[in-house]
Amino acid sequence: MKKIFDPATAIQDLKQFGEFGGVNPSITDSATFTFMSEEEMIKAFHGEAPGCFLYSRHWNPSNRYLSEAMAAMEGTELAWVTASGMAAITTTLLQLCNSGDHIITSVTTYGGTYAFMANYLKKFNIEVSFVNIDDIESIKRAIKPNTKVLYTETMTNPMLQISNIPELSKITKEHNITLVIDNTFTPMIFSPFKLGADIVVYSLTKFVNGKNDCVAGAICASEEFINSISNVNDGTAMLLGPVLDPLRSSSILKNMGTLHIRMQKHGENAMYLAKRFEQLGIKFVYPGLETHPHHKLMKEMMNEGFGFGGMIAIDVETAEKAAVFMEIMQDKGVGYHAVSLGYFKTLFSNSGKSTSSEVPEEIQKEMGLSPGLVRFSVGLDNDIERTCHLIEESLKESKLI
Ligand code: PLP
Repeated sequence: MKKIFDPATAIQDLKQFGEFGGVNPSITDSATFTFMSEEEMIKAFHGEAPGCFLYSRHWNPSNRYLSEAMAAMEGTELAWVTASGMAAITTTLLQLCNSGDHIITSVTTYGGTYAFMANYLKKFNIEVSFVNIDDIESIKRAIKPNTKVLYTETMTNPMLQISNIPELSKITKEHNITLVIDNTFTPMIFSPFKLGADIVVYSLTKFVNGKNDCVAGAICASEEFINSISNVNDGTAMLLGPVLDPLRSSSILKNMGTLHIRMQKHGENAMYLAKRFEQLGIKFVYPGLETHPHHKLMKEMMNEGFGFGGMIAIDVETAEKAAVFMEIMQDKGVGYHAVSLGYFKTLFSNSGKSTSSEVPEEIQKEMGLSPGLVRFSVGLDNDIERTCHLIEESLKESKLI
């Protein structure tokens, strides 16, 4: 397998330390910053005082450190950290598009993203076409003169399809369209910018932080784009104000140092379950196995050494069966019946009834989302054999095997 990029080493190579030599950078506990001269303050407001911080909604040192780590991980020039993953997505799209513009998006995305595109952008007269991201010809057909953005997730939520980023990038470059990729499910495993994306967005709430103690997000992009969103006159981030609290930035930054090991373990545990589910003959989706239609593509695009991800889904066909199965699993201690992902404990939920419930049922059907799809975010369990045994017992007690 070829090595595309090593994001873990890129993070390790950062030299970020505190003003008194602390091995962790000092936490900025200030909303505003003092200037020694009026001239310097005026320059700062015109973007002409590099290194000066003017106000925390614009930039602050703690957010700068986390942004540097995110940019290092993605290989982009810069990043900007936001108060949630949705803030990263909405800020990016509202910066790129004006009224009258057009977006093409994968129909399979996180439900909140789908709802923003389908319902909210109408307010701004921004038109959205929903496509199957696997169908390259339909994407080409959807392009219009006013298309500004092609949007998808590297590993889609909840179908676990893999988007062919190099192929999509060829199309967007040809038509002067910005390719925006949400890499929330697969940090380190994929480096979308290195594969041809223009902007990479994240919900840091998930794997990157890994502790489920806060929501946060990031936009990784060129210096020009980050400067445009933080511009005091017309930057979406500066003017809508979705800034991350610096105390949170500092705690997330520390968790990035263990991300590569966590991703390996999430992937190892998910692979164990996938192999067992295969033996049991149940219906499931995991792109780490050769039987997945995008397995070969995933291998071509992925970085070496971080596994195939911690997301796996079992299809038990109906929402009623899924409810019984999930309640039994929680009782037995498999993990928590909760939305979200990337936590050290296993989380599971019925996608159609929870994180994709914003997608109308007929569209869920069209995209092949089974009403009984139980999505797992596999935890860092030390004894995955034991967890697997509990899942099997739950399947038996729910009469699914
Ligand atoms: N992107 C993906 C793929 C997600 O799964 C989610 C949330 O579940 C988001 C974005 C939104 O992130 P947040 O909840 O941090 O706003």
